[in-house]
Amino acid sequence: MLKKRAKSDSINLLQAFEVLQSEGFDFEEALKPVPHPHTITLDQALEFAKCEKCQITGVDFVDVDFCNDIEWLKGLRNKIEHYQFRLPPKEVRLCIGRLVRGVAEFVDIFSLFDLEKEVGKDSYHVFEVLADEYAHLLKEAERDVAEKEEEAYRGVRHKHYVFIDWNVYQCPECSNNTMIPSEDSSTGYKCTFCSNEESDEIEVACDCCGAMESAEEMATWQMDDGTIENRCYFCSGQYQADKDD
Ligand SMILES: [Zn+2]
Ligand SMILES: [Zn+2]
Repeated sequence: MLKKRAKSDSINLLQAFEVLQSEGFDFEEALKPVPHPHTITLDQALEFAKCEKCQITGVDFVDVDFCNDIEWLKGLRNKIEHYQFRLPPKEVRLCIGRLVRGVAEFVDIFSLFDLEKEVGKDSYHVFEVLADEYAHLLKEAERDVAEKEEEAYRGVRHKHYVFIDWNVYQCPECSNNTMIPSEDSSTGYKCTFCSNEESDEIEVACDCCGAMESAEEMATWQMDDGTIENRCYFCSGQYQADKDD
């Protein structure tokens, strides 16, 4: 309903919420468990939270880091649900650190409760140490990205930048924007935070014409000798097929 209203009035979700509330719509009523409470997905909640801006500074309440954290958290939850996870102690520390950092920021921004009071002074201190460890490592990984980027473009004239094949991707493992070209990676890219090398977004060359496209978009053809070749949108014949439709 919020979505519909936002679309029909060309306003964002938060504004739609305020309009409906001012018109007397009872949102509390919708949450009562008779017969079922209305629920929303995490993504919908995030869309809503993204509309929130600080009334004093006009700055967005949730930033890119926060959205990345949420995405990572969803991935982690899915893996746990499917029993597909193994966490060495160091990673457990980092996971908890990342979680706590996100939660602490969130409850603070939206003034929900006092985390220190909620968990007790001692636990809070442990959480703080873990959150610091995570923040520290993330900062280092981000510094790596900045340094490597500077290296890649150093001495290159501005008009030649387009010829440099250097991208930063969002890592599908840790959801940070820290996946950059690496010589010792089999895919050519490596995450400076979690060392993951795989992503469907990494651009690969078409074996026919040499055009670069993401691995996700590239069609793969099995050749007679058993090898696999990449075919871009045009060379796979897909372009022609789409045009004929
Ligand atoms: Zn990563
Ligand atoms: Zn091609």
